[in-house]
Amino acid sequence: MCPADSPIADHLAVRPTSGSTTDQLRRNNLSKILTLIHREGALSRADLTRLTSLNRSTVGAIAAELAALGFVDERPPLDFRAGRPSPVVHPNERTVAVAVNPEVDAVHVGIVALGGVVLARSSVGIGPEASASEVVRIAAAEAHALLAELPGHRVFGAGIAVPGQVRIGDGQVREASHMGWFEEPVAAMFEAATGFPTFAANAAILAMRAESVFGAGKGVDNFVYVIGGASGIGGGMVSGGKIVTGAAGYAGEIGHTFVRSSGASCFCGAHGCLEAEVTQARLLQLVNLPPSQIAELGPALAASTEPAVRAAVAEDVALVAIAIRNAVNLFNPSVVVLAGFLAALMEGSGDDASAILPAEAVLAARESVRVERARFGADQLLIGAAELVFAGVLGDPSGYASSRA
Ligand SMILES: [Zn+2]
Repeated sequence: MCPADSPIADHLAVRPTSGSTTDQLRRNNLSKILTLIHREGALSRADLTRLTSLNRSTVGAIAAELAALGFVDERPPLDFRAGRPSPVVHPNERTVAVAVNPEVDAVHVGIVALGGVVLARSSVGIGPEASASEVVRIAAAEAHALLAELPGHRVFGAGIAVPGQVRIGDGQVREASHMGWFEEPVAAMFEAATGFPTFAANAAILAMRAESVFGAGKGVDNFVYVIGGASGIGGGMVSGGKIVTGAAGYAGEIGHTFVRSSGASCFCGAHGCLEAEVTQARLLQLVNLPPSQIAELGPALAASTEPAVRAAVAEDVALVAIAIRNAVNLFNPSVVVLAGFLAALMEGSGDDASAILPAEAVLAARESVRVERARFGADQLLIGAAELVFAGVLGDPSGYASSRA
C-alpha cells in the first residue's frame, strides 16, 4: 500500500517506539503513562502504578520526566488520610493542538488541550461557495487570534475535520462535495499558512474518535456511530476495538446507505440515501430556527405540537431507523451512538434513543444493543480533530517535545 493511503486507524493508533534498549523502554513508559493521563484525566502515582503494573519508582521517574517535558503537572492530593501522600499527575493544559472544522455554513476553530479539553473556540460564518484557500485563510487567522489569548501555551500541531473523504497520509481532501471541494491539499495549505504540522481526516470518523476516547463509546469495543451535521450524515464503526476503515480509509458512509426506493437524488450521484432524505436544514426550517441556533433544535422539536412537525419528525425517525437496522444487522454492535442533529431528532421525538431500534433488526443482535445520544455536543469535532495531533505526541512524548522545543 502506498504510504499516502495509510488508513486513519493507523494514524490514530498510539504506537510507542519498538525495541528493548533502555532508552526505548523509557520512551515506551512515557507513552504508556501519558496516554493514560490523556484519556482518564488526573491520576495519582499510586493509581498509575496499579494501572500500568510498573513499579513505584519507575512511575515516579516517568511522571517527573513528563512534568519536566511540560506534558503533566504533579500536585499534592486534595485529601489523604494516612501515610505518605501520592502526588496526583494532571494533564498540562498548556500542551495544545489547533482544531479546525469547516462546515457548509461556518468554519469552527478551537484550541484543545491534552486531556481533550477545549480551551477556546470560535466560529466564522462562510458562504456556500467558500473556496478551500479562503477557508484556510479564515481558520489560520482565527487560530492565531485564539492563541494570542493563551500566552505560554505550546502548540504541537493542527488537526482538520473535513466533511468528506480525506486521504489521511497527506491530508488531501479527495472530495467534500457539499463544500464543492475536489482534490484540495487542505492540510498542506494550513501548514503553509501557520507553520504548524497539520493533519486532516474525515469529520465523522474524528467525532467518533472523540466519543470513543472520552464519551459514550469509552471502553466499548463494538459500536456504531452516526452523526448528522449541516453537510449531511456520516458515521463509522469500531469493531473488536478497531476502527473499521476499509481498504483506504473511506468506510463508514452510513449517510449514503439506501433508505427510500423513491427517494431524492443525493450529492453522491445515487438516490434515496439517508442524508438526502433526512436533513438538518429541513428540521431547522420546521421550527423556524436559523443554523446558528442548532443547539435549540432538540428542545424546539420536542416542544412543538404542530401536526406537520410531529409527522415530519416521525417520518425522519423511521428513515434513520432503517439505517440503524442495517448497521445493527451488519456489525452487531453493543452500542449505537447518535450525534449532532440526529441526537436532536431523537430528543424531538420525545422517545428515548433506544426507541429508534427497529423491531425488524435481527433479534439476537437487537437484544444486546443499546442506542444512546452522544455525550458531546458541538465540541466533539474539535476534540476529534485534536486527536490527529495527540496520537503522535502520545506515541513518543520525548521525541515530540524535542521536535517542538
Ligand atoms: Zn448518497
